[in-house]
Amino acid sequence: MNYLSTRGQAAPQRFTDILLEGLAPDGGLFLPERYPQVDAGTLTRWARLSYAELAHEILALYIDDIPHADLCELAARTYTAEVFGSAAITPVLPLGRSGLMLQRLSEGPTLAFKDMAMQLLGRLFEYELGRRGQRLNIVGATSGDTGSAAEVALQGKRGVQVFMLSPHGRMSPVQQAQMYGLQDAHIHNLAVQGVFDEAQDMVKAVAGDLAFKRAHAIGAVNSINWARLLAQVVYYFAGYLQAERKLGEPVSFTVPSGNFGNVCAGHVARMMGLPIDQLVVATNENDVLDEFFRTGTYRVRPASQTLETSSPSMDIAKASNFERFIADLLERDGAQVARLFAAPEFTLTPDQMARVHQRHGFASGRSTHAERLAAMRWAWAEWQEVIDPHTAAGLHVAAQHARDGVPMIVLETAKAAKFGATVQEALGFEPPLPPALQALLAAPPRVQVIPPDVALLRQYIEAHDHG
Ligand SMILES: *Cc1c(COP(=O)(O)O)cnc(C)c1O
Repeated sequence: MNYLSTRGQAAPQRFTDILLEGLAPDGGLFLPERYPQVDAGTLTRWARLSYAELAHEILALYIDDIPHADLCELAARTYTAEVFGSAAITPVLPLGRSGLMLQRLSEGPTLAFKDMAMQLLGRLFEYELGRRGQRLNIVGATSGDTGSAAEVALQGKRGVQVFMLSPHGRMSPVQQAQMYGLQDAHIHNLAVQGVFDEAQDMVKAVAGDLAFKRAHAIGAVNSINWARLLAQVVYYFAGYLQAERKLGEPVSFTVPSGNFGNVCAGHVARMMGLPIDQLVVATNENDVLDEFFRTGTYRVRPASQTLETSSPSMDIAKASNFERFIADLLERDGAQVARLFAAPEFTLTPDQMARVHQRHGFASGRSTHAERLAAMRWAWAEWQEVIDPHTAAGLHVAAQHARDGVPMIVLETAKAAKFGATVQEALGFEPPLPPALQALLAAPPRVQVIPPDVALLRQYIEAHDHG
């Protein structure tokens, strides 16, 4: 399988090359040259597999430069009941008779769905770097959950250092502790005085400088990394197979969205032939995606207009994975994709938007703080479920899009314990903190506060790179 850039100007690459690279050299994002197709017979066979076996089957469709036996072992060591709490790994819970279901994606070590991909990525990195005898400096930006998931997955992995930028003072105390509490000299926490998008821009500037990138073996773990997206494709299949449908009948998913990584994996699953009716994109007040799906206009906001909300992991002004979907929508017309994303905003034609909704099944909605609190109270009153504010954003929007006879799976993107203050506000009590989290909260914080200055970031990486 070859991987091509969404902008069409990069040489085709193999999986393990893009695993270590991130952005394509032409500024685009890598996509597989085609989506392998899955038919009813395959689904029937996959319904009998464990999560790790399912992961192996799907990974093997896209990865042909790692031997099957090794891939199988990597998947088996990643998706274990010890790490993810149950044999199902991502159990699906029907919410009464509402037709709504919760798929639990947050049972991993950092209590957010990011672990689903990051735990695999950590093992893939260690495997491939070991095979090549290379080092890798991961430079990433996080609005909260990516950073901790990456750091926990990569700590102690040979050949890897992590430089993680986060928006200073904008993450929950638990999110901060999950990063800053890690006592590992190969983990560097840099708190940027600005919003997430400014931190993200710094990462893009460093990764976009090819000479610097090569000299310092810079890699990425943010959601533009195709391997992460691929790992996320697996749980759409796992969710579908647990939804108690006759195989072949559709289900819908609602996805609390920020950078469009999670729901983009759903799009890939749908392109592979998984019977998905609707893919519902749920945003918060930072509704650049909802605006696009409603109006056809994609209008990136300036960082100064990014609101700080009670669902901070969705507080983004531009959706870095969105270009992948647009590339598929435009049937991989790289020149057109490049043109669209060079502009501060673009508007698709009514015909194109009809394809977005009908052929690709996308719908969307947004929520306010008050609506998320109401959804949290609803889940507690109806089903005695304590959900976090991101999942609440999903539940709120899912209820508006549910169709009779089609199960609607809401992806649970974080555990409530991560966002105790908002749970307290909604329900009047705080969910208990797991003991491992309490220890991180008590640990001395390891973090450096820096201004949003790319030159400073470069200097810091140069000073700490052991190449
Ligand atoms: C990262 C994250 C999101 C947004 O996911 P994207 O892949 O960026 O769309 C939503 N909720 C939580 C809890 C997250 O950590």
